[in-house]
Amino acid sequence: MNAPLPLEVARGAPFQAYDAVAGASNEVAGRLAQRLATETQGEVLFSPADRGRYSTDASIYQVTPIGVFVPRHADEVKIAIDICRELKVPIVPRGGGTSQCGQTVGAGLVIDHSRHVRSILSFDAEKRTALVEPGIVLDHLNLGLKKAGLWYPVDVSTSAQATLGGMAGNNSCGSRSIAYGNMVHNVLGAQAWTADGQLHDFGLFEQSSGRAREIGERVRQMAIELAPQIDANWPKVLRRVAGYNLDIFRNQSERPYTSDGSVNLAHLLIGSEGTLALTRSLMLQLAELPRAKVLGVVNFPTFYQAMDSAQHIVKLGDGTLTAVELVDRTMIDLALQNPAFAPVVRTALTGSPAAILLVEFSGASRAELEPKLAQLEELMGDLGLPGSVVRMADEAPQKNLWEVRKAGLNIMMSLKGDGKPVSFIEDCAVPLEHLAEYTDSLTQVFRKHGSKGTWYAHASVGTLHVRPILDMRREGAAKMRAIAEEASELVRKHKGAYSGEHGDGLCRGEWIEWQFGPQINEAFRRIKQLFDPAALLSPQRIVDAPKMDDTRLMRFPPSYRVIPLAPVLDWTPWDVQNNPATEEIGAPGSGGDPAHGFAKAVEMCNNNGHCRKFDAGTMCPSYRVTRDEKHLTRGRANTLRLALSGQLGADGIASQEVRDALDLCVGCKGCKRDCPTGVDMAKMKVEFLHHYKARHGFTLKDRLVGRLPDYAHLAARFAGLVNRRNASPLMKRLGERLAGLSARRSLPQWKQQHFFNTAHAGATRAQALSAANAVVLFVDTFNGYFESDNAAAALRVLQAAGYLVHVASKERPDGRHLCCGRTYLSSGMVDQAKAKAAELVQSLLPFARRGVAIVGLEPSCLLTLRDEALAMGLGEAAQAVAGQALLFEEFLAREAKAGRLEPLKARLAPLDKRVLLHGHCHQKAFGAVSPVMEVLRLVPGVEPELIDSSCCGMAGSFGYEADHYDVSMQMAELNLLPAVRKYPGAIVVADGTSCRHQIQDGADRPAVHAAVLLARQLAA
Ligand SMILES: Cc1cc2nc3c(=O)[nH]c(=O)nc-3n(C[C@H](O)[C@H](O)[C@H](O)COP(=O)(O)OP(=O)(O)OC[C@H]3O[C@@H](n4cnc5c(N)ncnc54)[C@H](O)[C@@H]3O)c2cc1C
Ligand code: SF4
Ligand code: SF4
Repeated sequence: MNAPLPLEVARGAPFQAYDAVAGASNEVAGRLAQRLATETQGEVLFSPADRGRYSTDASIYQVTPIGVFVPRHADEVKIAIDICRELKVPIVPRGGGTSQCGQTVGAGLVIDHSRHVRSILSFDAEKRTALVEPGIVLDHLNLGLKKAGLWYPVDVSTSAQATLGGMAGNNSCGSRSIAYGNMVHNVLGAQAWTADGQLHDFGLFEQSSGRAREIGERVRQMAIELAPQIDANWPKVLRRVAGYNLDIFRNQSERPYTSDGSVNLAHLLIGSEGTLALTRSLMLQLAELPRAKVLGVVNFPTFYQAMDSAQHIVKLGDGTLTAVELVDRTMIDLALQNPAFAPVVRTALTGSPAAILLVEFSGASRAELEPKLAQLEELMGDLGLPGSVVRMADEAPQKNLWEVRKAGLNIMMSLKGDGKPVSFIEDCAVPLEHLAEYTDSLTQVFRKHGSKGTWYAHASVGTLHVRPILDMRREGAAKMRAIAEEASELVRKHKGAYSGEHGDGLCRGEWIEWQFGPQINEAFRRIKQLFDPAALLSPQRIVDAPKMDDTRLMRFPPSYRVIPLAPVLDWTPWDVQNNPATEEIGAPGSGGDPAHGFAKAVEMCNNNGHCRKFDAGTMCPSYRVTRDEKHLTRGRANTLRLALSGQLGADGIASQEVRDALDLCVGCKGCKRDCPTGVDMAKMKVEFLHHYKARHGFTLKDRLVGRLPDYAHLAARFAGLVNRRNASPLMKRLGERLAGLSARRSLPQWKQQHFFNTAHAGATRAQALSAANAVVLFVDTFNGYFESDNAAAALRVLQAAGYLVHVASKERPDGRHLCCGRTYLSSGMVDQAKAKAAELVQSLLPFARRGVAIVGLEPSCLLTLRDEALAMGLGEAAQAVAGQALLFEEFLAREAKAGRLEPLKARLAPLDKRVLLHGHCHQKAFGAVSPVMEVLRLVPGVEPELIDSSCCGMAGSFGYEADHYDVSMQMAELNLLPAVRKYPGAIVVADGTSCRHQIQDGADRPAVHAAVLLARQLAA
């Protein structure tokens, strides 16, 4: 790895930056940074942390770039090319960075197109074409095309992250490639800069001119000269993405490049992995969106039969067959273990199959497609498997099953321990008639090497994904080489393609000569020289590539070490090793992690980029508003990994770099729910804050926020005085200057009379411990002091439902309320948080032991009991309490299902109003939103509408902080506030204190806790 450069180039300060760099070891890097900063408006990221964040992609590799450039607009790419050429700095273009083979890691200037260079430049519905910039994400493009009934049909699994430039770079292929082909079959033209800074139009060869024509002529000549070698060595399968597409002049694929046999020079760039030119725009061929789809799920008694049948099934289509996808037994079992997926999978199974194939037909109408399912059934009968097809003609079950297919892979990737499923032969493609024999033989190879593989994906085109489990820190590289050698022999035997979907990169470059032979390999070298004689663009990829098992290029080389760390939370469940053959994991704490599991939890991020999503309701809100790799779950996990392993300097986790990366993390737990490998950045932020604050001390704001539960009783007593702050511009300004609390925010209002000093008709501890119908109501600081009406409403509703309610109290009352420790956690006062949580747990334990439900109102407080409290070393007591801790609506929904809420339902008056619900992030993370919907429906006439929102942006104290105010409002404006404004007369329900505050601040509308809505409807 390169030595880190000690600079961060701030815009507006290029000369200081230059000075800093000039004194540093890498003078060229300094000049590069300085010139980019002065000659462009783009972001110039040369700090060690930035370079580290761009040193990896979804592969096993890591190479630190010299720096990163994020152009503001397309033409700045040309400026960067010119500067790099003059300074002789290589360029590594990048989109979403989801490549699996190391295509986007390299020791040059990484140019990230995904942030700004992402427009649809033109669109022609009649011709079904779109001209796009390379940084646009596939799903975003398709969203724009949907209204016109069109889509771009190269449906890669990473459609929510993959950019069209990256897809072109890799010649990507989707699940439906049997119908639509690969990327190369759907590109009509490209405009691209070669390394000399010249912009060229690459299109139909016959119509080309200038340098593009010249290049075309030379490549054509090579194809003519090498005709015998091309015919002999070139894989004939559709899924071949290795090398350069020299065969555009002599097609070898079962699907020709163009339907009319013409030659398109843009196709030379597709699959060239950024080594020939940098794409400025792509002209895409669009397709009509299928109006109907039907699915037949074929159940097979053996894996072999599934593989053997694929060749027959694909003949059924008549142009309507769009996918044949495999799910093997391991994945079926994984899905059956998941409560959400099990019912879906069961609908697809007949008995206990060894594998299933998802066979999809698409067309104009369902009526037209249903006979295809009958044909499939007939075929399977002929193949000796009558009754093996489960028909799915309706859209919803189909969609659910496709989701399971995707999630199965995610569960597989979440394996804990150093052994991980590694992608390096995961997309070899073989002709369908050999598929059964190939998969069988490869399974035996894995077994021989003490590993196993789970098979899935594209049976229709002979590209089955499989990843053996390897430990790259130990003997993984050697095993990888051995398995690759044997797999390659099988690919050769079956006349397949070694690189069939995910590209060459660092992983498969060395296999190009093996696949094509020395003469074609030499022709590839000449093509590279034609385009890029100085080897400026992604050098040593495709041509002269390094060895796949060169551990110096790996993220976890044998020399990888973690700085010892004593974590404040319990991370031992991650501190394990696994058995690659059985996938069994060891006991917590046995993994040998010097950071006791924290480093291994961080290392679970495999950089797949799934967090670069933009759907509302999912991770990651700070990325959605910034589009900045630093403010993304992946960027944060990478920063932590680099810091923990000493790659960002001696400060380790307590460094400024980690602070900067975690600064905008709102702790929403979106990643805990959505990240395929379970990266829980909210919890990691708590761990970080503990170490950072221990080193750097607490600020006034930390103390004000963290200790709020401690001084709340005093503040309430002086409510009149404290509340003046909201009406006094001077006090607001002072608050901002001294404590960092934004002057643009109102603060919650204190009340002298609040829930904790008001008599209420709750039961005593003793009464509740001896009653059969007891419930404990845990009233948190916020609902107790600021919004007492919520606590009173909850008490009233629970009592009206017939429960004996005890308001959680200390065993030995001391005049203070119980607290979960949430504010301390978010301020980095983890030891104090532990003390608070321990006290709460002890107080609640007798109830938990008796099976009494512990009901809470504020999601972030109650759910602390089910989450962080379990990692605080509080032992079995915390587990017992967590087992009984329920949100108000979770409890009521459970009771309603048990038929115990009839008395309450009878008392609820109808409501004739639109009701909107905004789910708190932690409710979403714990699947606790649907109970709120169910409970609101108890009110006659109410059909709640769930706002499709992500984090509200307030996130505890985050949105109150001056530094975060703007980002906080941007988060709210993404979906939540527009949805609230759309229906001025609607009742807005939000259970989170800070969510309600944000809605009031941003939309000038009150929002209520569900308990309040129910209490209002209680007839007197
Ligand atoms: C979980 C998972 C599932 C996947 N599923 C699929 C799948 O179904 N099908 C599939 O084909 N792939 C799949 N991939 C691989 C990857 O997602 C795709 O290849 C994707 O298209 C890459 O897009 P990207 O924007 O991330 O490109 P990147 O990884 O950023 O770049 C890809 C290549 O394009 C080059 N490049 C980027 N921008 C430019 C430009 N402007 N000019 C020139 N070159 C450029 C890069 O240098 C690199 O060589 C998967 C990956 C993961 C992690
Ligand atoms: S944080 Fe999770 S979703 Fe994001 S890249 Fe890492 S593993 Fe993937
Ligand atoms: S907790 Fe939320 S903001 Fe933080 S990384 Fe995860 S999804 Fe992003």
